[in-house]
Amino acid sequence: MATLSHSPKGPRKRARPPMAYPRTGGEIRGPRRLSPLVLFLLLFPALLMVGLLSGLGGYRRLSTALSGHEVYIAAQPVSPSRSPRVGLVAGHLGHDSGAVCADGLTEVEVNTAIAREVARRLEALGYTVDVLEEFDERLHGYRAAALLSIHADSCEYINELATGFKVARAQADMVPEQSDRLVACLVSAYGRSTGLRFHADSITYDMTDYHAFREIAPETPAAIIETGFLYLDRDLLTRGQERVVEGIVEGLRCFLEGSE
Ligand SMILES: [Zn+2]
Repeated sequence: MATLSHSPKGPRKRARPPMAYPRTGGEIRGPRRLSPLVLFLLLFPALLMVGLLSGLGGYRRLSTALSGHEVYIAAQPVSPSRSPRVGLVAGHLGHDSGAVCADGLTEVEVNTAIAREVARRLEALGYTVDVLEEFDERLHGYRAAALLSIHADSCEYINELATGFKVARAQADMVPEQSDRLVACLVSAYGRSTGLRFHADSITYDMTDYHAFREIAPETPAAIIETGFLYLDRDLLTRGQERVVEGIVEGLRCFLEGSE
């Protein structure tokens, strides 16, 4: 700026460009010096709003509005107060009877009774539960914190080893770490509650390639349980059903709440 006041020595036109340059530079520097202040003034109300919104629980609504996925992510955490969704497939329901015993007891009635009681218990704990049929339309793209399909094994006498339970996840699982943890939780809690042994050696392709695994949303952790053999484990599966239910409920809670 000092050059400006000293430059008018003569009427030479050349003097003007050097004068114009600092002036232009001054105009550029002005806004540059102001910009942090301007930014602060612009951002401060926005930051204040976000702070207030999050304090009021509005941030979740804001993120929900911004992306539909936020709803699912927000529903995932394990606090029952947020009412995560759990899907239970009552094996064979709405389709066929499944295994049939000589006296007419069917697998579907055992599976359904177990699924409904597990649902009642989970709902009492604050979960949202869907009891689904074997080929339920809702399975397509089904989103939940966990999906468990409940089945039971054959009611024919095979040999004395045909006792015990099985739990498996999909072979082509898209969230294998989560589904493995679901399986581990169920194996541990179900074994503890029922006293049955884990029958890992007879997990079949039908279990790991179970149709519902291919229908649900790929981000839904899922497993299938064979609660026992209807022949040798019949007492437990019918008269001792509360231990079966307890084992499944505790297995799901272990996964959903990170409890043991
Ligand atoms: Zn079955």
